[in-house]
Amino acid sequence: MTAYLISGSQLLPQRFWDRVAVADHHWVWTGYTADNGRPMFELEGRRRRNARALAWSAFKGPIPAGHYVVNVCGTDLCIRPDCCLAVTPAENGILRRQPMCNMGHPLSGDNLLVSCGKRLCRTCRRENKRAARAARR
Ligand SMILES: [Zn+2]
Ligand SMILES: [Zn+2]
Repeated sequence: MTAYLISGSQLLPQRFWDRVAVADHHWVWTGYTADNGRPMFELEGRRRRNARALAWSAFKGPIPAGHYVVNVCGTDLCIRPDCCLAVTPAENGILRRQPMCNMGHPLSGDNLLVSCGKRLCRTCRRENKRAARAARR
């Protein structure tokens, strides 16, 4: 697992992965955290940076301008890029106000589907499709 993670990223040194504990499909940060609980990592000779942002750019490429990386899987200190979203401050506000879909399913983790910058509920989508199929019969 560790070897795979490293080969996925030329940017992040072994020191980074030494601070990651893989739990189920989450990557839990065990290193330094800022006062606000944000996982932080200091790249050689540079300022401390958000470990989520570093992992994101290593696996998904540059973070779009004006966006920052936030965790949406709900696991404390998880830094896995697939558990995070790059959002604008405005989108992050919506995210915080709306942790669940209209039906009360959690808009996080495996149930969260991100499409065109919108957060969708997988459970609802599946059920809507099933209902649409049933209606056609
Ligand atoms: Zn996670
Ligand atoms: Zn739902």
